[in-house]
Amino acid sequence: MRTPLLAANWKLYKSLAEALAYADALLAALDAEGDCLRVELAVCPPFPLLYPLAEAFKGSSVSVGAQNVSEYLEGAFTGETGINQLDGLGLGYVIIGHSERRNVFRESNEAIADKLKIALTKSSLVPILCVGEPLDYRKDGRELDFVKSQLQTALKDVEPSDAERIVIAYEPIWAIGTGVNAEPKDAEEMAAEIRDWLSGSFGIAAAQSVRILYGGSIKPANWKDIYAGPNVDGGLVGGASLDPADFYTLYQLMLG
Ligand code: PEP
Repeated sequence: MRTPLLAANWKLYKSLAEALAYADALLAALDAEGDCLRVELAVCPPFPLLYPLAEAFKGSSVSVGAQNVSEYLEGAFTGETGINQLDGLGLGYVIIGHSERRNVFRESNEAIADKLKIALTKSSLVPILCVGEPLDYRKDGRELDFVKSQLQTALKDVEPSDAERIVIAYEPIWAIGTGVNAEPKDAEEMAAEIRDWLSGSFGIAAAQSVRILYGGSIKPANWKDIYAGPNVDGGLVGGASLDPADFYTLYQLMLG
C-alpha cells in the first residue's frame, strides 16, 4: 500500500568527489543484495550535487531530493533556487520546512505553505514536509497542538487531490542531531495523530496514502524499534546517513 521511504538529509556536507564515491558504494551494496524495491531510498544533498547525483543514481531505486526550494517561481531573488530549476534535473523529492530552515533561517509557516503549494502545483516532485515540536512543548504535553498548528498552516492551500502526494516527516526538534531519539511509542503516537488529522482534513483515502516518516537521531541501534510503529512509514536521517554503510544498514533493518 504505502511504499516505505528512507531519506538521507546530508545538510551542508560532502564534496562532489565524496558524493560520487558515496553513490558508488551505495549502488554496489544494493546490487550485491539484489535491490528489492520494497523500500524506496532517497538522498538529499546540497544543491550543486543534485544533478551529478541524479545522473549517478539514474535507473536505480535511489531517488535524489533537494533540501529546500524558493517560495518564488522566478524573479529578482538573488541566491534562491526555484522549483523550475529543480524540476527537470531528474529529482524525486524536495524537503520543505526542515527545522533548521525554520529556526536558523527564520522561515515562517506562511513561507513554508507557499513552498509546499509551489512544489505541488508547479512540479512533479514529492514534497517531504517537516514538522516537529521544540522541547518545552513536549515537556508541557503540548506537542500535538504545536504539530497540528504547523500542519494547519502548511497545508491550508493544498487541494485534497494533491494531499496524497505529500510525505510528512515528524522530526521533534529536540531529537535532531542531539543523539536523543523519540521513544518508539511517542513516534508512533504522533504519526497516528498526524494520520488522523489528515483524515479529518483530506479524507480517509488521502490519509492512508500519505507516508509519515520519523526523523531525529535515527541510528542502526534504535531504528528497528522506531520503524516498528504501524504508522511510521520510514525515516528522514541526518548524521547516520553520511556514511553509506550506516545508511545501508538502516535500509536493511526496514527489509525485516
Ligand atoms: C535531520 O536532519 O532531518 C535529522 C533528523 O538529523 P539527525 O538524524 O542527525 O538527527
